[in-house]
Amino acid sequence: MARYRGSSCKLCRREGEQLFLKGARCYTTKCAIDRRPDQIPGVHGKGRRSKFSEYGIRLREKQKVKRIYGLTESQFSKYFFDAAKRKGVTGSLLISLLERRLDNVVYRLGFGSSRNEARHLVWLGHVLVDGKKVDIPSYEVSEGQRIEIKEKTRSNVHVNQSLEILERRGLPQWLDLDKDNYKGQVTKLPEREDVTVPIDEQLIVEFYSRV
Ligand code: SF4
Repeated sequence: MARYRGSSCKLCRREGEQLFLKGARCYTTKCAIDRRPDQIPGVHGKGRRSKFSEYGIRLREKQKVKRIYGLTESQFSKYFFDAAKRKGVTGSLLISLLERRLDNVVYRLGFGSSRNEARHLVWLGHVLVDGKKVDIPSYEVSEGQRIEIKEKTRSNVHVNQSLEILERRGLPQWLDLDKDNYKGQVTKLPEREDVTVPIDEQLIVEFYSRV
């Protein structure tokens, strides 16, 4: 299935919570969720959110996480089945794998104001991993790897504005950042408790166990 190209705010309104998909705007009073928290998208969206079935609750949680990380259906299910094959708790492994994506790490380090912006930085070759260009957003980072912004991109206004927003978002404990030199490092692999995003991964496990 193709990547969603519509309004990001519509996705947040569909899920009824802030997914922080639009970068700087998400931290302002212009945020659509802040202004109209109960309104779902579409012409019939003026009413209150209806209650979901048991299946619907699990589906929505899966959709929410898929949207947070900006993945297509097939990419997301691939992550799920990869996590299910590994030794450990599937839900926690799933979140850890998603966090280890290079575009997510670039976002977490504050070089992109949203995962989408971070993905473009990677795609366009502005990101180095251990000194070498890596232009694959799904690249899985490992412990100890250094992630940096190419020298000629460091003056980019978007990158610098994003670093300012990071102060509000906060840097995760599994990453280290040398802001002045646009360099970061994976100090340890992310574990479930390192990820503060409100996700109930067990619902996703239950979703896939039914399909
Ligand atoms: Fe979601 Fe950001 Fe739009 Fe708010 S501004 S609705 S958090 S994408």
